Amino acid sequence: MLAKQLSLASIMVALASAATAPAPTPSSTPIPAPLIPLPPFNGTFAGSYPPTFAIAATSSPQVAKWMSELNLTAVPDIPVVKVTSGGTIVSPNSIPASACDWSVDNCINKDITTCPVGVWGLSYDDGPTEFSPQLYDFLDKTNQKATLFYIGSNVLTNWQSARRACGAGHQIAVHTWSHHYSTSLTNEQFVAEVKYTEMAIKELCGVTPTYFRPPYGDIDNRIRGLLTQMGYTSVIWDLDTNDWEMAPGGKLSMQSVNSAFDAWIAKAPQDTTGHVCLEHELYQNTVNAAITNLPKLQKTWKTMPVAACVNDPHPYREKNITLATLNGAKTGVNNASNTTVGNSAVSPGASATPTGTAKTGGSTPARALTSVTVAVAAAVICAGQMLL
Ligand SMILES: [Zn+2]
Repeated sequence: MLAKQLSLASIMVALASAATAPAPTPSSTPIPAPLIPLPPFNGTFAGSYPPTFAIAATSSPQVAKWMSELNLTAVPDIPVVKVTSGGTIVSPNSIPASACDWSVDNCINKDITTCPVGVWGLSYDDGPTEFSPQLYDFLDKTNQKATLFYIGSNVLTNWQSARRACGAGHQIAVHTWSHHYSTSLTNEQFVAEVKYTEMAIKELCGVTPTYFRPPYGDIDNRIRGLLTQMGYTSVIWDLDTNDWEMAPGGKLSMQSVNSAFDAWIAKAPQDTTGHVCLEHELYQNTVNAAITNLPKLQKTWKTMPVAACVNDPHPYREKNITLATLNGAKTGVNNASNTTVGNSAVSPGASATPTGTAKTGGSTPARALTSVTVAVAAAVICAGQMLL
């Protein structure tokens, strides 16, 4: 339950201010041509979305349609958890053990929390923000890919950065629309949180994510059941930088965050597993910490997106898109017009066909694939380069 006693109020204030932040800082370096082709986008989202950082109204036909696509009988009937405005669980003792509520006792059930020994799953939460271009510049410079758990509201506000990250071949994943505690939401509210974010990413990038990280790690078997129905794999972490506590006026120093990384590096020779680490692209401080510590991580572990470390070359529903994996898949696009769900579309020149994933979803709703619009033919092929 400790996770829910963190300063929810301070995080929500920061996220809300990010939503009204000035235009992103221009990149200091030229942005490379996209590796993943992007659909046309004129700067205006065509879809109808909830207000930023607001829990969506669930009475809309859109939400009803999404709910109708799910088999709710397969979702455990676990009560919605009540939390205070500060994020503290009300009546934690009433939560049944069968809920496997991570916020209560770090209970894990099929969630990805680690990578193989020697591998570091690199992830940044809460973007895109006005600070993201600095991080993305550095990732480009170091030929490094990461998993970016995006807040839907921030995708609308900072769409230029989101679009850049998609094209760069980072793994884009969902981190809800409004960053509330997942277990405190009704089924309809939670589905809307995921699907509106998914819709914005699809509209902007032409891809449909299949990985999800719950804000604050807050997840139980009801939420997992809904995610499975929507075709998502949940990702938590085994190492937490607590970098968000470096918020302006926060209580954590940069030195403390740096020391945490140094301690993990010192213990690496004794590792019995690789890691998935929680970092944020939320503040200037967190981006600075990411940039400072990444070179040290790269010298200690193979650093890559989470999907890459579990050898899932298709972290999007669009199976013609491949992202590089630990065991050799290469980032690229197969433009065969008849690509169907389930085909592994390894990019031309890929040297390995990945096997084995940590996917938990066995009931992904069948959905016809949408061919990605190829806006830049020259950007289609990026074979022959290991891009993690
Ligand atoms: Zn978050």
